[in-house]
Amino acid sequence: MTMFVALDPNGRLITIENAHRGISCNCTCVSCGEPVMARKGLIREHHFAHVSQKKSCYIQRESLLHLYAKEVICDGLGMQLPHLPGIYPNSEDTSSWWDFETVTPEVRQQGFQPDLVAELKDGSRLFIEIAVTSFIDEVKLERIQAAGTPTIELDLSDLLQSSQPIPSESSKSYILHQPHHKSWIYPEAPTIAQAFEMQMPDPRSVVDLHPPRTTPALQEQRFVIMQMWVSARTLPSGSVAVRSWSFNPQITELLKTWRNQFGGEYNPRYKNWIYYPNSREEILARLQALDQN
Ligand SMILES: [Zn+2]
Repeated sequence: MTMFVALDPNGRLITIENAHRGISCNCTCVSCGEPVMARKGLIREHHFAHVSQKKSCYIQRESLLHLYAKEVICDGLGMQLPHLPGIYPNSEDTSSWWDFETVTPEVRQQGFQPDLVAELKDGSRLFIEIAVTSFIDEVKLERIQAAGTPTIELDLSDLLQSSQPIPSESSKSYILHQPHHKSWIYPEAPTIAQAFEMQMPDPRSVVDLHPPRTTPALQEQRFVIMQMWVSARTLPSGSVAVRSWSFNPQITELLKTWRNQFGGEYNPRYKNWIYYPNSREEILARLQALDQN
């Protein structure tokens, strides 16, 4: 496999176009670490080659992406993140930019090692997990919960499937600025009941004034789509949570397409897709239209 990417003397990914010609590029192989030279002749496509003449290493897009995501977050010292679970800001913004003071790769924690640890201005920390093909499992989730440190997971599987070059400005922007592929692993999203309580008025102000409010809006609607049960629940925030009760790749693909179209997020903990209030009616109408009941 032709090598178009290498590590520069500072250990950063560099493409062949940006490398100095020959051995003076001072680059090393991403895969084996051996010195490479930049072959930029007139005949063959420009590429890197091991100085030792051994044959090219196979550089997996998956590991390249993992490495690159860490690099851009360390350099970017910040990221656009969805709101913390349970926080429903009044504005239409569904995400905000978080500034980091420092970002350190692979600092070992109690029983696990997050990909990156960011330190915030207030001294608190954020764990960052970069998932390309493997995601946080139950054991790691338990350790993250025990650590009690806010943890965000980036799902870069779409970037893995895409043909966007790595490194590139477009993939960098996707990693840093797109909130939709990021989900909070800790703190967890509140349950429907907890979310409802958060929206209830302060009990001291309503004592003996009103009977408990009923919640028709929280009622679940059920649909049968492609022979599967799909439910939709309107949350107190006005967002709608949609989940398929059994795994079906076509339904997952459909819900994902809607998420890309209207915005929203996937909540891995509850395996549901959240669509924001401004698209709720459209989402419910689409589910209704597909309903085979
Ligand atoms: Zn190599």
